[in-house]
Amino acid sequence: MIPFNKPPYTGKEDDHVLNAMRASKMSGDGEYTVLCHKWFESNVGCKKALLTPSCTQALEMAAILIDIQPGDEVIMPSYTFVSTANAFVLRGANIVFVDVRPDTMNIDEQLIEAAITPRTKAIVPVHYAGVACEMDVIMALAEKHQLYVIEDAAQGMKATYKGRALGTIGHLAAYSFHETKNYTSGGEGGLLLINDERFVTRAEIVREKGTNRSQFWRGMVDKYTWVDVGSSYLPSELQAAYLYGQLQSSEEINQARRQLWDNYYQAFASLQEKGLELPIVPEGCEHNAHMFYVKLKDLQVRGAFIESLKAQGVLSVFHYVPLHSSPCGLKWGRFSGDDTYTTADSERLVRLPIWYGMTEAEQGQVISSVRQFMGTL
Ligand SMILES: *Cc1c(COP(=O)(O)O)cnc(C)c1O
Repeated sequence: MIPFNKPPYTGKEDDHVLNAMRASKMSGDGEYTVLCHKWFESNVGCKKALLTPSCTQALEMAAILIDIQPGDEVIMPSYTFVSTANAFVLRGANIVFVDVRPDTMNIDEQLIEAAITPRTKAIVPVHYAGVACEMDVIMALAEKHQLYVIEDAAQGMKATYKGRALGTIGHLAAYSFHETKNYTSGGEGGLLLINDERFVTRAEIVREKGTNRSQFWRGMVDKYTWVDVGSSYLPSELQAAYLYGQLQSSEEINQARRQLWDNYYQAFASLQEKGLELPIVPEGCEHNAHMFYVKLKDLQVRGAFIESLKAQGVLSVFHYVPLHSSPCGLKWGRFSGDDTYTTADSERLVRLPIWYGMTEAEQGQVISSVRQFMGTL
């Protein structure tokens, strides 16, 4: 069976993880965490990078930092992972869902303004499949209405929008290093990217259980104490060490994924006339081959597609069930405007296997099983 994903692994992680195991400090913010922070600050270009145990927790930190209060509203697509919403609901926010664009499955920037109310505090664009949202429009809206923008760039590392790295455009952003993403810190992990310097000092405090311990270590205060709300948002040095090996190979990983993505695209180009819809990457967006998805005619054809591939030894998977129709989405959210594409297109979409290290033979099997199915239509 061809799996849907394998965690990225390059071999460069081994030595770093062993070093971290033998270091005198294995808890958070040791040598490897600092190396990773510096890597992101100089290679991605955020003002401040802070590793977290998951992207979910980076989003939770963002919700604390922008001071979400009960009753505040946060605008986001319904077609996203549950953590995008949960991070804000945990602080008492209500979620306002906006429809997606059918070409990218990203929030439709033209529909955001109609969703803004006096209670709106933030917009959370999700860069689906590592393809950028229309950030110029979103940032202009945020400025006009004095809102924060938190990029859910969980899938966005090494992708760009008009030459700018995803995660460096909003006030705050989050990356994921879960094993299903392009880079992992050993299964679970995340990063908070801070682009608005006003958040830096408080972010370090929130991440250190609400204490000023970071300032204490740097000799800026003579004792450390409880000064704010916070939690434990530091990953272990083992996670940072694993990730550091991947960062050193990040260009190689990116190129390899892009190659696999291009192979699929070329192989399926002629199937478009048979009704297989291929992903669209708008002008100005450079993607990172996080995902290769196709769209079928409807839910029924998609079901037959997944079954057929499975019978041919290939695991393909659908993606998000829209949050607005989930039990908690109904309780804490509302949909602004019409659901023209969110539900309909989420039911047609299916993702194909892609991972760093996938062989030509493995990809060939996926391609031929898709061709085989399309031939039956
Ligand atoms: C993976 C993902 C998350 C959650 O990441 P974790 O690191 O597993 O917490 C959040 N949002 C989106 C869009 C994701 O794809």
